[in-house]
Amino acid sequence: MTILNELDEFRIFAKRLSRKHQIRHHDALDIIAKQQGHSNWNALMKAWAQGWRPDPWDVIDINESSIIESPTRGFDKVKTTEGDIAGEPYTLRVYFDEVVIGGNGWGIYFGHAPLEPAKIETYTKPNPLDDKAFFSKIMKIGIEAADAVREAIARDWGPGSMQPCNDGSVKHPLFGGVSAEWFCMHCDTRSTGAQMAANMWHCPKCRATPLDVHPNAWWKEPVSSG
Ligand SMILES: [Zn+2]
Repeated sequence: MTILNELDEFRIFAKRLSRKHQIRHHDALDIIAKQQGHSNWNALMKAWAQGWRPDPWDVIDINESSIIESPTRGFDKVKTTEGDIAGEPYTLRVYFDEVVIGGNGWGIYFGHAPLEPAKIETYTKPNPLDDKAFFSKIMKIGIEAADAVREAIARDWGPGSMQPCNDGSVKHPLFGGVSAEWFCMHCDTRSTGAQMAANMWHCPKCRATPLDVHPNAWWKEPVSSG
């Protein structure tokens, strides 16, 4: 195997991030650059050219691909189950980190954050979901599938990211970094490590994804040129 330098490793990690979170590769590179203390990827490249190198700890951490990929769950794997309740059909799709269940003229989306409510969409009237018994059975199937996905993610992330230590500190599941308090770049609020772990690293206040959660509010500080 060829030994890659840290820039190559960052690029590979950015590719994984962009696939997992459906963001542009360039945005993923900028996120990684910010994690490394640079204002964006171009700034990181410039610093690299001037001799800056990431700490070995950072590189080792980013190499832990198991934190975002596992043999049983993959970005491209979708598990589809067809079924019916009293003759009314439904299709359950379990994705890498979300669940969608749908049928004739309706769809329900379950995200990865426990606090995020299910999104229910109906396209026709009358609708099969108008039937309360059908609706509650469908919700039960969807919630069970979403819980199973969350459990699988929690296993991938490991106890270091899911169970705070005695001092309240937890490790960010994607970027590494250990802290007892975490800042959301999206809504500019602070949450404890326990709150972040309980909501699977989505901001408890605004439900932003783990990509927006950082151990310090670096966006409030003056940007150093590296
Ligand atoms: Zn937030």
